[in-house]
Order: sequence, then structure tokens, then C-alpha cells
Amino acid sequence: MLDETTTARARGLRDLPPVKSDSLLALIAMAAADSRADKIDVGVGVFRDASGQTPILKVMKQAERILLESQPTKAYLGSAGDKRFAELLRPILLGEHAKDERIAGVQTPGGCGALRLGFELIRTMNPDARVLVGTPTWPNHAPIIRGVGLPMVEYPYYDRDSHQVRFDAMLDALGKARAGDVVLLHGVCHNPTGADLHAQQWAEVTRIVSQRGLLPFVDIAYQGFGRGLDEDAAGLRGLLSACDEVIAAQSCDKNFSVYRDRVGSLFVKTGSADATATAMAHVFQRAREMWSMPPDHGAAAVRIILDDPRLTADWQVELDAMRDRINSVRARIAAADPRLAYIGQQFGMFSMLPLSTEQVVALRERHAIYMADSGRFNVVGMADEAIDRFTGAVVEALDG
Ligand code: PMP
Repeated sequence: MLDETTTARARGLRDLPPVKSDSLLALIAMAAADSRADKIDVGVGVFRDASGQTPILKVMKQAERILLESQPTKAYLGSAGDKRFAELLRPILLGEHAKDERIAGVQTPGGCGALRLGFELIRTMNPDARVLVGTPTWPNHAPIIRGVGLPMVEYPYYDRDSHQVRFDAMLDALGKARAGDVVLLHGVCHNPTGADLHAQQWAEVTRIVSQRGLLPFVDIAYQGFGRGLDEDAAGLRGLLSACDEVIAAQSCDKNFSVYRDRVGSLFVKTGSADATATAMAHVFQRAREMWSMPPDHGAAAVRIILDDPRLTADWQVELDAMRDRINSVRARIAAADPRLAYIGQQFGMFSMLPLSTEQVVALRERHAIYMADSGRFNVVGMADEAIDRFTGAVVEALDG
């Protein structure tokens, strides 16, 4: 006779609950399905040039050709991925700290992989470590942190009405943090607000973080898109000067325009080269459990560029051009209406418009302009020829 436990229907894959779709992915699908020829999709998170394309950099094409011709094997590389890639990133990311033996880096599958790996390392260190996250932040931060199983605490970051960083409230929250708490900071080009800390604010955050024994975790996905490579890493480098322990998740997906190739790295600093070696042994173990080793192609192409001064110089010219476009589109939008002036003071691809969800929906329905319900939009999501139509529709919505 069968007992109850065997007659009860076992749970199957059919029992999985429906998933609430990611609102940004839903927006991309909605924009793609819109057949209006003049639609504007500023919800998307990739750089677009004046003609509205996301180009492959010329220097990247060249590096890929070299890679195709010269790659001797596709044998496994190991959990660290391309070691020379991580080594060549050091001067770019770490600047004056590049030679510090207490800092080690490893290739990861994009910035997302670096974030996941960094939080896995933190969980290995202390499963109860709290992660302090500014609000608002990039929508994928919370799922990654929750996915690792770490408790998350929010701190105020941005005021929608004044378009400024809520710096006093942020400092107040950090001042109440407990030793050992992790503080997630955007290195540059804050996503979704475009509101970065200025130098004095970085200095104050750095002072509190080091005084209170907090662990800074810097997410730097847009180096070179703000003011320049060195300027954009200044906040991170200041933390490296002041703190014994720092984690940085870096991405090349934007500044080398290789989004789908998934190119990033995780850098870890501890108080000694020995402790860093131990931390990296844990990092490799965690990487092995998740993806074994990162994909090679994009990082190998970046390595070819950074290993050749001529190609590196060519990359910097193309990077400067991307940054110039971001800042010139910002200036055009800012000039359209005094209520949009703040956009000219912000950095990176994203800013938030002071629109209600209803106004965002109306822009979508009436003007085929797609942006996140929060009013976050990609300043370089549209071609040059679409900017006037975009600002006209936004100003009309603001007047409405
Ligand atoms: N951090 C932030 C703030 C981002 O905006 C992004 C990408 N949108 C990432 C990390 C992840 O970048 P990647 O595509 O390299 O995983």
C-alpha cells in the first residue's frame, strides 16, 4: 500500500510561480513592438552615437582582428580568466595605487559578475554583514545582494525635487552605520540619477567610512563617461588611500562598448599582501562555483588594446568622443528649459526627469517616447535629430 507521502503529488517545474517581469526589460519589449517610425527609446542602457547607433569601436574591431589572427588556443584559462587583462587595468582604475601589492584583481563576466563575486566574498567573510545601499540605485543592485543572501539597508541618496544628492542625510545614515557594514557607492555617473558626489563630498564619505570601520564597495561601470578616466576614478582612489579594505566592481562593457561580451573585473584590497592572497583564493573558489571561469573573447580584445600604447591612445580618443557626445546632449537638453538645467550639471548616461508615472505613460502613448516609469532616461539613447522632438515633448509634459 502506498503511504501518503508517496501519493502526494511531488512538486514539479510546473509549480513554479509566475515571475514579475523586470520593468526595464518589459519597457524594451514595448518599445521594440511600437511601429511608429519616429519612436524614441531612452529606456535602454547603452550608449548611442549621433545617428542613434551603438557602434563597435574602431579600435575594438582592430583588436578583434588581431585576436582572430593570433590566438593560439582556446584551452581553459582558469578561474582568474585573463590575468594580463586584470594587470593592464590596474593603472587605469587604480592610478597611483596600481603597484600596491595589497590590491588584487580578477576578470569577471561584466560588472554584474564582479558585483556578485564581491558580495559572495563578503558573505564568505560574514553572512550577517549588512549592505548599505543608497536610494535610488541601479535596479539590479538589490536582486544581486538579495541573491547572495546578505541583509540590505537603504540610505538616502538623491532628492528628486532639488535634483541634488541628499548629502546631509547620507552622511547622517553613514554616521549611524555599524563597524563592518558594507557601503555600496557608485564610482561615477550614478545610475539612475546622474548625480555624483563631488570631490569634497567624496572626502567626507571617505573620512566617515574609514573612521567607523565600514567596508566600501565601489561599483564603477562608467569610468571615462563622466569627466575623464582619472577624474572618474578619484573617489575610488581616495578610498584606497584612506582605507585598508576596499572592494571595487569594474566594467569595461560601457567604456569599450562591448556590452554583450561581458567584460569586467573585481578588485580587492586588504591590509596586507598575505590577507589579499587569501581573499583572492576565496574569490577564485566562489567564481569556480558560479561560472568556473569568465568568457574570454571581450577581455582578450581589451587586453590587446591596453597592451599596445598606440591602440590604447586610439581607444582613449574614441572614449573621449563618447563622453563628449554625452555632455553635449546634456547641454542641449539643459538649454531647452530652465526646469531641465540641472541635467547639464550631471554626469553619465542617465538622469531622472521630474515626471509622474502618468506623464511618462502619456509620453509613451502620445509621442512614442519610452523611458522608465521613474522618469529615468538615457541622455544618449536618441539620435541627434530626435533631441528637439524629445525636449519639446518633455517640456509639454512638464507644462501639462
Ligand atoms: N553597475 C551599474 C551602476 C550599471 O549601470 C551596470 C550596467 N547597467 C552594471 C553595474 C553592470 O554592467 P555590466 O553590463 O558590465 O554587467
